[in-house]
Amino acid sequence: MPEEKHVEQLSAPKNTGRGVVLHHFWKKEGAAWRNRAEYYVDGILAAHVSERHTPAEEFGRERNRKEAPLLVKRMKKHAVKRIVYETLRQYYQKDMPWGSLTGIRPTKFLRELSAEHGAAEARRIFAAAYHVSEQKIRLAETICSVQAPFMDRKKENELDIYIGIPFCISRCKYCSFISKDLQFNQTIKTQYLPRLFWEMDSMRPIIENYHVRAVYIGGGTPTALSEKELEALLLKVTSLFRGNYEFTVEAGRPDTITREKLAILKENNVQRISINAQTTNDRTLELIGRRHTTQEFEQAFSLAKEFGFQSVNTDMILGLPREELTDVEKTLRDIMRYEPDNVTVHTLAIKQSSSFAEEQRNDLPDAKLVSNMVELSQNFLQKKGYLPYYLYRQKYMSGNLENVGFARPGKECVYNIDIMEETVSNLAFGAGAISKRLFPEKNLIKRAPNVKDLKNYIERTDEMVLRKKELF
Ligand code: SF4
Repeated sequence: MPEEKHVEQLSAPKNTGRGVVLHHFWKKEGAAWRNRAEYYVDGILAAHVSERHTPAEEFGRERNRKEAPLLVKRMKKHAVKRIVYETLRQYYQKDMPWGSLTGIRPTKFLRELSAEHGAAEARRIFAAAYHVSEQKIRLAETICSVQAPFMDRKKENELDIYIGIPFCISRCKYCSFISKDLQFNQTIKTQYLPRLFWEMDSMRPIIENYHVRAVYIGGGTPTALSEKELEALLLKVTSLFRGNYEFTVEAGRPDTITREKLAILKENNVQRISINAQTTNDRTLELIGRRHTTQEFEQAFSLAKEFGFQSVNTDMILGLPREELTDVEKTLRDIMRYEPDNVTVHTLAIKQSSSFAEEQRNDLPDAKLVSNMVELSQNFLQKKGYLPYYLYRQKYMSGNLENVGFARPGKECVYNIDIMEETVSNLAFGAGAISKRLFPEKNLIKRAPNVKDLKNYIERTDEMVLRKKELF
């Protein structure tokens, strides 16, 4: 604990306009610290919770001195979130499914707690200290057990590769990946690929020191590239990365799929692709600005199946405008007809850069309904033999819920597990891609982000390479 500050204002009082103010502070009490949150409504203290921490109890589990500051910082952050959550819970009499957990990786946290305290104590901490619901604890436990065989692998000198293709053929209203004016700017696209290839080539000496475990081409929509561009990209990948690795391309939009592109993917050893339905209700597809129909999804998916990829995934989104439980059930039944190997179930997150955020829609299902949709989809898929195998949470998600990847046993995507659980280092190429290097002995992850803006990326690719070289 920092001794230099006796009272630390961690969250500035914030007036929401409805006369509501939330205060949080740490106060020194002898050798201990008091962690306190107060909630004022129209100037009256409406709820408050405080707890006392002694360094030895909460923050003193120092496994080694180097690790201690990081551990203390994290435990302190968790303590603040917990106390603020409990104060608001006291006032609003409402529980959230993941309680006070706000991080994107609850399964990673559960695994760490289990390693330190044992599985039973980890579950108790999730429930008692973080107020995670029984349903979500069970989900996280199932995922951790499905992931267990992937965690035991030897990780030294292993590396995952991410390649970002930030283009698409039009912009869905919930999309935050693609900037509005650069949806499909041909000039930018023709300048982007050579810089991307140069960035990849520049890292060749470093790549040679590692065993590549998985390659993932994401976006945007990589299949928005022309056949010629896609082939050039895949040839670059296969010439640069040798050996056996899992190879995934996010095809995404059904209206970008052609027989020729599928053949190019297959010929270049791509094993896993994703063709996304999102919903099989055409009315909803129109409302979310996804300019394709359910029929186009069905045609693209069936075509992909003919090519015999090792795994074909489809994504769906819960919480879309005007959708009811019956719409979600229809989508689930429809996609089952095509026997996807994996199904990724997203909960709608309205990010600030999306058209939905600007529109401030009032036709979105409420949190309770979205929560029922999540429950319906999870029960449905598990009954059909799909197991949840990775999970992540985002800001601005409907009902503060989660995104979950389901797979038939043996069809799990190693890359998805690695990226969510941060199990191996990641070398990432392209605009907005973030490289990460793991230092397990120090319990440390260092990052080297690439700039997001396409023009900036094209002009400053050498700087992106330099950042990565310094990291690796
Ligand atoms: S298909 Fe995906 S990348 Fe393309 S606009 Fe829609 S959400 Fe964005």
